[in-house]
Amino acid sequence: MSRRGLLRASLLGSGVLAGCSTAPGGSSFAPSPQLVPIRARIDRILDIAVCLRPFRPAGPRVDTERLGDTLVVHNYGHGGSGWSLSWGSSARAVRLAMQASPGEVAVIGCGILGLTSAILAQRAGARVTIYAREQLPLTTSARATGEWTPDSRVALANAAAPGFAAVWEEMARTAFKAHRNYLGLPGTPVEWIDQYSVADDAPRSGGAGAPPGPDFADYSKSIADLVPKWRRVPADATPFKAGAVARSEAMIFNISDYGHTLLNDFFIAGGQFRRAEFHTPSQISALGKKVVINCTGYGARALWKDETLTPVRGQIARLIPQPDVRYLVIYRHVLAVPRRDGIVVQSFEGGEGEGYGDTNEAPDRAEAERAVTTLAELFQPASGRV
Ligand SMILES: Cc1cc2nc3c(=O)[nH]c(=O)nc-3n(C[C@H](O)[C@H](O)[C@H](O)COP(=O)(O)OP(=O)(O)OC[C@H]3O[C@@H](n4cnc5c(N)ncnc54)[C@H](O)[C@@H]3O)c2cc1C
Repeated sequence: MSRRGLLRASLLGSGVLAGCSTAPGGSSFAPSPQLVPIRARIDRILDIAVCLRPFRPAGPRVDTERLGDTLVVHNYGHGGSGWSLSWGSSARAVRLAMQASPGEVAVIGCGILGLTSAILAQRAGARVTIYAREQLPLTTSARATGEWTPDSRVALANAAAPGFAAVWEEMARTAFKAHRNYLGLPGTPVEWIDQYSVADDAPRSGGAGAPPGPDFADYSKSIADLVPKWRRVPADATPFKAGAVARSEAMIFNISDYGHTLLNDFFIAGGQFRRAEFHTPSQISALGKKVVINCTGYGARALWKDETLTPVRGQIARLIPQPDVRYLVIYRHVLAVPRRDGIVVQSFEGGEGEGYGDTNEAPDRAEAERAVTTLAELFQPASGRV
C-alpha cells in the first residue's frame, strides 16, 4: 500500500490495515527493534515551515523552447514529488540540453531540480553556472518533508499528458537508482528506515474520510517492485497505544545534509553560482548562453506565464531531533519522519487536496500543535517516558 493509500485509509479509521499481508506462518514475525518513543510535545516544536508545491495538472514540464539563440530546457512543476523524481527528471532535461553540444550550461534555479540538473550537466562534460534568487537552504525544496514519494501530487488523472505514465515511471526508476548513491555517506543524506502505520481499535466517531479533493494520478503500481510491502506486527510488541500496527520500510532524505552534499559536489566540480532574479524570459536570453535549463519551480508561473502551475500549500513542523528515534510513523492523519535535523510532523487532516490553490505561506501554529498532540496520544500509556 502506498503512503497515499495509507493516509486515505487512516482517515477512515480502523480499515487502515486491510490488505496488509501477515508475516509468513503468522507467529514467525521478526520482533520490532526497541523503539524509542517520540517526545511529542508542543514545547519541542523548533520550526514551522510552509511551502507551495509547484503542481501542474499535466505533470512536470520537461521540454524545450527556443528563445532567440538560446535553447531553453524546462524542468519544473513537480508538485509533491520534486525530491523523489529530481534525478530522473533532471536526467531527461540534461539529455535534451546536451543534444546542442554546449561547452557551457546555465541553470536557472537552485532548488533540488536546479542542483541535480547542474550536477548531471557537469557529469556530461559542461561547465555550469547556476543563476538563482535563492540557494537551496532558502528555497521551497528546503521546506519539504523528505520522503520518497514519487507520485505525490504529480499530475491529475484526467489531465496528465498522453504517455506521461511511462515517462513518470522512467523518471522514478532513474531517480531511485541515483538516490542509492547517497546511502551510507557521512551525514546520512539518504537512508532507509522502518515505517509503522498505526490504527486505533475502533473507527472514530464521525468516521468521515478526507474531503473529496482533486483526482491526483496514482502511478504507484508500476513501481511496486521498488517498494517494500506492509506486514502486520503485534501491537503489543511496539510502544504504540494501538489496536493494529503494520510495518514496512521507507527511503527518507535528510534534507539539510542532502542539500549540503549536493551544493558541495557542485562547487567541487567547478560550478559557479550567481545571485540573480529574472522577471522576463528576455532577461534570460540576454545572458547570451547557448543552453539554459529552467528549474524555477513555482517561480515559472510568473516568469514563464505558466498559469497551469497551481500552488498546493503544505506545512511541516519540526521537533527537536531525537537521534535514537529511527522509525517513521503514520497515525490518524499525522505523519512523523525522524530526519536527522528534527522530527518532521505533518498533518493531512484535510486530505491530499488540502492546500490546493492556496498561496498562503503563513505558518499555522494551531495546525502544528494539533498534529503534535495527536502524535502524543500514540505514546500515552507511557507518557512518563516522553
Ligand atoms: C510541505 C511539503 C512537503 C514536501 N515533501 C516532499 C517529499 O517528502 N518528497 C518529495 O519528493 N517532494 C516533496 N515536496 C515537493 C518538493 O518540495 C518540490 O517538488 C520541490 O522542492 C520543487 O523543487 P524545485 O527545485 O522545482 O523548486 P524550488 O525549490 O522552489 O527552487 C526554485 C529555484 O528557482 C529560483 N527562482 C524562482 N523564480 C526565479 C526567478 N524569477 N529568478 C531567479 N530565480 C528564480 C528560486 O530562487 C530557487 O532557487 C514537498 C513540498 C511541500 C510543500
